[in-house]
Amino acid sequence: MFGNDFIFFVLVSLVSIFMGLFVLLKDTRNRVNRNFFYLSSSVFVWIASFYFEDVIRNQQWLNVLLRSDYFFGCLIVFYFFLFIGELVELKILSNKIIKVALYLPSMLLFWMIFFTDLIVKGFEILPGGLNPILGSLEIIYEIFLVVFLLAGSIIAAIKYRKIVNEKRVQLAYIFTGLFIFIFIAILINVVLVDLIKNSVNYTFYSRLGIYSVIFLNVFSGYAIIKHRLLNIKIIYTELLALGVIVLSLVQLFTAKGISEFISQGLIFVALTFFAYKLVRSVEVEIERKEELQEMATRLAQANDQLRTLDNAKTEFISIASHQLRTPITAIKGFSSLLLEGSYGEVSESVHSALEKVYSSAERLVDLVEDLLNVSRIESGRMQFTFEKASVEKLIKELYDNFILIAKNKKFYLDIKLPENPLPEIVMDYSKIRELVSNFIDNALKYTEKGGATVKAELREEGVVVDENGFVVGKKSEFGKVIRITVSDTGIGIPKEEIPYLFKKFSRGKDVSRLHVGGTGLGLYVGKAIAETHHGQVWVESDGAGKGSRFIIEIPVEHIS
Ligand code: ADP
Repeated sequence: MFGNDFIFFVLVSLVSIFMGLFVLLKDTRNRVNRNFFYLSSSVFVWIASFYFEDVIRNQQWLNVLLRSDYFFGCLIVFYFFLFIGELVELKILSNKIIKVALYLPSMLLFWMIFFTDLIVKGFEILPGGLNPILGSLEIIYEIFLVVFLLAGSIIAAIKYRKIVNEKRVQLAYIFTGLFIFIFIAILINVVLVDLIKNSVNYTFYSRLGIYSVIFLNVFSGYAIIKHRLLNIKIIYTELLALGVIVLSLVQLFTAKGISEFISQGLIFVALTFFAYKLVRSVEVEIERKEELQEMATRLAQANDQLRTLDNAKTEFISIASHQLRTPITAIKGFSSLLLEGSYGEVSESVHSALEKVYSSAERLVDLVEDLLNVSRIESGRMQFTFEKASVEKLIKELYDNFILIAKNKKFYLDIKLPENPLPEIVMDYSKIRELVSNFIDNALKYTEKGGATVKAELREEGVVVDENGFVVGKKSEFGKVIRITVSDTGIGIPKEEIPYLFKKFSRGKDVSRLHVGGTGLGLYVGKAIAETHHGQVWVESDGAGKGSRFIIEIPVEHIS
């Protein structure tokens, strides 16, 4: 049978030829692919030269093989440089003259290596293998190697930091391949060289270093072939998987005896299977992540569009409301004058019609004011004037405003103030008044019999209200608070409606029976007002038909 050396040689050659051809055939016109093909072909000839150096003993052939191993070593580095240059679209490579100039040193080396003794003079056959005798200008060969290898690596490194797209991942692959190659080559042929020199398997080991060029080849080829390179994470998983497979392959080839070969073979198959599964699972995970990311971006875009639309709507409401305000005020003003008799006596029936006109106009004014408030809140244009004021005064004023309405409906309206006067607090008086006024207005609106009570008290600490409008804890952070509670004996609120009440345009299911008008804006506006005061608003109700308590808390200490 063939020795391990030969099997290895064939394996590595096949991989390099296959890689090169595959990449070339994918796109024969692409300069990156073409240079890769040349790189792979050079790798193949280089490896072959090494192999045959140890097999052939014909002096003339050995001479050619040795020189070709030197020359193709140079070509590998040269095409590595061109390959990287084309991949990162190095500008100078589009210049024909420079490109031709770049080929000149290689041609010169070709001549020097094959036709003169300046680089390689001859050789001697030692027990460890072929030992070259170098010529006087051997340094040129070394300079060539260093210059092109460094140039290629530096260009790649610089570009790697600048580019962000898929090329970056391609470069990462190439770097990884290059790194593994250099690492193994240095480890075996430089660091461990003394250790393995006397081993019987010396040729085999020393060739491992040379063959590891295949890593550069395979990684670079893979970087070009693979349609979508996903992520560095995948590279490392693949690398790990590959390492395990290669190790297992080495063990398979170095197996002694058929039973070991079979067991190693089984291990190899199992490892390959699991490695494949591992890589696939990482790929799938990353694909998912990417999909999620894409969805998030799309959502963000949709959100932006929605926000733009919302802004346009707010703007529209604002303009429309402003335009509506003037004529409505005129209607209200003139109907009031007519009612007062400023334009002469009016008959009973006209009077009652005018009263309807007046109250409708009044409702319209409230509606327009609510709409304007919403647009102010949403565009952040709501103006607040903070000053020290008394809550007791505010409640008494509201009582005076509503007592007649309550009496007309045969409701009671009570106020409960503490014995010790409440401290004055810094607030926007008219806005808080508007808020509490809406509470009382609603209490009278959504009640069939009974009445409403307005209570004010000082409390040691506030509460925490969750996003669904339920009290979930205490909040001592802002210190003492003043709590105003408007409770009624009205239609109450089912628990499931509570989370929606303070939202825009939200009205309870059952309300139209009692009060057809209404916009569902009052509580929304009130919540925004309370929040500006670092306060809370919420509602408590024991259920439908059991009355409700609308509550606001404002910190005593003003927080700006
Ligand atoms: P509007 O009263 O114009 O509908 P609000 O924002 O002031 O708007 O109120 C929103 C909804 O909250 C009302 O439609 C009603 O369903 C409910 N609501 C408010 N106050 C009470 C209350 N005292 N009793 C029962 N339900 C109420």
